[in-house]
Amino acid sequence: MRITALAGGIGGARFLRGLRHHVQQATSDPVSGETAGTGLTEITVIGNTGDDIWIHGLRVCPDLDTVMYTLGDGIDPERGWGRLDETFRAKEELTAYGVEPTWFGLGDRDIGTHLVRTTSLNAGYPLSSVTEALCERWQPGVRLIPMTDDRAETHVIVDDPDNPGTDIALHFQEWWIRYRASLPARRFVVVGIEEAKPAPGVVDALRNADVIVFPPSNPIVSISTILAVPGIADEIRATRAPVVGVSPIISGAPVRGMADACLRASGIETSAAAVAAHYGARSSGGLLDGWLVDTSDAASTPVIEQAGITTRAVPLLMTDLDATAAMAAETLGLASRLRSTP
Ligand code: GDP
Ligand code: CA
Repeated sequence: MRITALAGGIGGARFLRGLRHHVQQATSDPVSGETAGTGLTEITVIGNTGDDIWIHGLRVCPDLDTVMYTLGDGIDPERGWGRLDETFRAKEELTAYGVEPTWFGLGDRDIGTHLVRTTSLNAGYPLSSVTEALCERWQPGVRLIPMTDDRAETHVIVDDPDNPGTDIALHFQEWWIRYRASLPARRFVVVGIEEAKPAPGVVDALRNADVIVFPPSNPIVSISTILAVPGIADEIRATRAPVVGVSPIISGAPVRGMADACLRASGIETSAAAVAAHYGARSSGGLLDGWLVDTSDAASTPVIEQAGITTRAVPLLMTDLDATAAMAAETLGLASRLRSTP
């Protein structure tokens, strides 16, 4: 059985850890119902690279690294990003020199990853090969592929704080980290996305999938950025596999982070139902067959179903590994029902 998931950073990575756990625990194939051992379950993850940035000459891929470190047990579980037992002495030195940017959390251990990546990219290797090489160390138990090998970075159009009335474009990381998404965003622009091609393996992973999963990642700057790579959304629209998503919004708010600011800028209400409508039903040219909302949002199930998306209300808080594995089980269970009743 082949599962292909799109993923941003924290929300995607935590869900994938639960998915991997569930798949490892399952006594029968979670999608086909066949007895375990009849076929290995493979998980392929298409990671968001819209957040990538050059910092002090280093190529940093925050979402790929969050997935790699989380699944490789190298993540700082409290912060949810960066390395465990991290120190920031190199960053202090750079700050003492007064070199910008000073707002990016560049950890000493993390720098090791960025140095290996940057050296390999400079030697001419594509990001997909470099990511595969980095994963040799972390053994995430999934195949992690960047959405594209091409440079396509998310920028945010805001009102210039120093020059009110004038639009300026900030790199997504500057808006998110330095300004904590407090400058009202007018819109997002992924610079270079029109020319970006899916990285090697991405199209095959979508075409050959038995189920495609949208984890509870940021719908705008994680999932929609991946979907904006030319070809990816078309593959998902055309697939015979069920496509099932998990809401990152619970009771009208993101569980963590500032996805509401991203939704607002895109003219989408912060609700599980509005995010489902944003993706749309595959039966009417959209992307989803199934959608999971939290039990606290059960009242919104009928309206989402009316739009043609089979919806279930189940607990969606990733409080621990077991709770997250149970969410993954619900996701695959819904996919399995959708496969048997096409
Ligand atoms: P980022 O790139 O690090 O911002 O991570 P993602 O885009 O993968 O995920 C961010 C989203 O994860 C946010 O919108 C959160 O609401 C969502 N999220 C975080 N924790 C949970 C949780 O326990 N349950 C659900 N349903 N969503 C969560
Ligand atoms: Ca991210």
